[in-house]
Amino acid sequence: MTDSLKLKGLRKRLVDDLHRKGINDLKVLQAMNAVPRHLFFPSDFISRAYEDAAFPIEADQTISQPFTVAFQTQLLDVNPGMRVLEIGTGSGYQAAVLCQIGAIVYTIERHELLYRTSSKKLSELGYAAHCIWGDGTGGAPKYAPFDRILVTAASPEDVGVLELQLKEGGKLVVPVGDKNVQRMMLVERGVENNFTRTFHGEFKFVPLVGKYGWKPEI
Ligand code: SAM
Repeated sequence: MTDSLKLKGLRKRLVDDLHRKGINDLKVLQAMNAVPRHLFFPSDFISRAYEDAAFPIEADQTISQPFTVAFQTQLLDVNPGMRVLEIGTGSGYQAAVLCQIGAIVYTIERHELLYRTSSKKLSELGYAAHCIWGDGTGGAPKYAPFDRILVTAASPEDVGVLELQLKEGGKLVVPVGDKNVQRMMLVERGVENNFTRTFHGEFKFVPLVGKYGWKPEI
């Protein structure tokens, strides 16, 4: 697993750019400066890893744009020791960022190939994320409740099943809307079943496919 002065320099430049674009949570910036994004990238395209852009990975999926990762992580408001569920492991990069912050990370991926590749990569890099293969639209009731839940694919707006897996005071960040454009929704759980929902800009994700998500395209 290699890093280099040149790649570290490009990474630092990307993080400075994210700061200029409004990311100011130091924990997020420091974690993204530490995690070698190029190692979660298709190996033939490592030179593109520090552009602020999404990129295709296996199984017709994407590694999210760095700004999107930073924005979602900042909105999620993660602190060390929190139990965090991520739905949509993909390359494993976002899970690594959460681990780097010091969270206890559970991450679910529906594509077996991505699950295998990302769990191997995370473990080789020393990130102790709990990787799960399956449909994450129903959350992970076996490991609930969570302090934080992060969905990294485009979800229908009814996320009631996930909300109930939050602790009191917990937060859920999920892009909701149709398959063309989504609004970033933050759900905060108050006492008992008191939920506050706010919206934070528009994004574009691949669809969340499964029981409480979208149907797979034929
Ligand atoms: N977080 C990822 C990363 O850091 O590379 C990027 C996630 S990618 C934009 C969305 C991922 O969600 C894809 O890998 C996709 O296969 C996965 N996904 C879609 N529906 C899912 C489901 N029901 N359960 C788990 N993962 C799902």
